[in-house]
Amino acid sequence: MIAPPGAGKGTQGVVIASHFGIPHIATGDLLRDHVARGTELGQTVRASMDAGALVPDEVVLQMVFEALDASGSDGYVLDGVPRTMAQARSLYDFAVERDKTADVALHLDVDDDELVRRLLARAAVSGRTDDTEDVIRHRLALYYEVTHPILDWYGERGILVRVDAHRPADQVGRHILTALEVLKQVVEGSPGLPRRAVDLTSLGRAFGAST
Ligand code: AMP
Repeated sequence: MIAPPGAGKGTQGVVIASHFGIPHIATGDLLRDHVARGTELGQTVRASMDAGALVPDEVVLQMVFEALDASGSDGYVLDGVPRTMAQARSLYDFAVERDKTADVALHLDVDDDELVRRLLARAAVSGRTDDTEDVIRHRLALYYEVTHPILDWYGERGILVRVDAHRPADQVGRHILTALEVLKQVVEGSPGLPRRAVDLTSLGRAFGAST
C-alpha cells in the first residue's frame, strides 16, 4: 500500500490481511513498538519519528526483511513500505531472490484537506507524537516529495490499483476487496500475462464519493 498519512492504510491493511489470511506488516507500528519497548533500534529512530522525518532506508529495510522472513508466510500486506525509491528497489530485489513478486500496488487517493482533517481528529485520541499540525504538514510534504513518485514505477509495471478513499472506511474496504479479488483471478489464471494499471478512482465518484 502506498498512500499519504491519514489515507487509511492501517485500517484497510487489516481488512485486506484478514480477508486473504496473510500477515499485515506495518513499518510504522513495528517502529513505534521498538520506541515503546526502548530497544536500541527504538532509541535510534525516535527523534526522526517525532519530527515526521523518514527513518534511514537501511534501518527500515533490515527490520522489514526480518519480519517478512520470520512471518513464514507466502504473501503479505505491506503497509508503510516502500516509502522511497531505494526501498522499492530493495524490496524488489528481496522478492526476486525468493522467487516472489508484488501482485498489486494499492494507492489510496485522498485530498490534502481531508488528510489533515483526519490526522488532526486522530491526534485527539491516538497519543501519537507525530500527529501535531506542523509535523502532519511535514509528513505530507515528504510523502509527495519522495513516496508519491514510486507510484509511477508500479504503474509502469502494470500492477497499480488506485482507489478513491474519501468515502467511509467500510465502503472503501469493500471496494478494495472487490478489486483485489478480480485481480487475484487474473494473476492466478495467467501467471505470465503482463498486468495493466487499473484506475478505480472515477468508479469511486460514480458510487457517490464527495470528490
Ligand atoms: P506511519 O505509521 O506509516 O505513518 O509511520 C510513522 C513514522 O515511522 C514515519 O513518519 C517515519 O518516521 C517512520 N517510518 C515508517 N515507515 C517508514 C519507512 N518505510 N521508511 C522510513 N521511515 C518510516
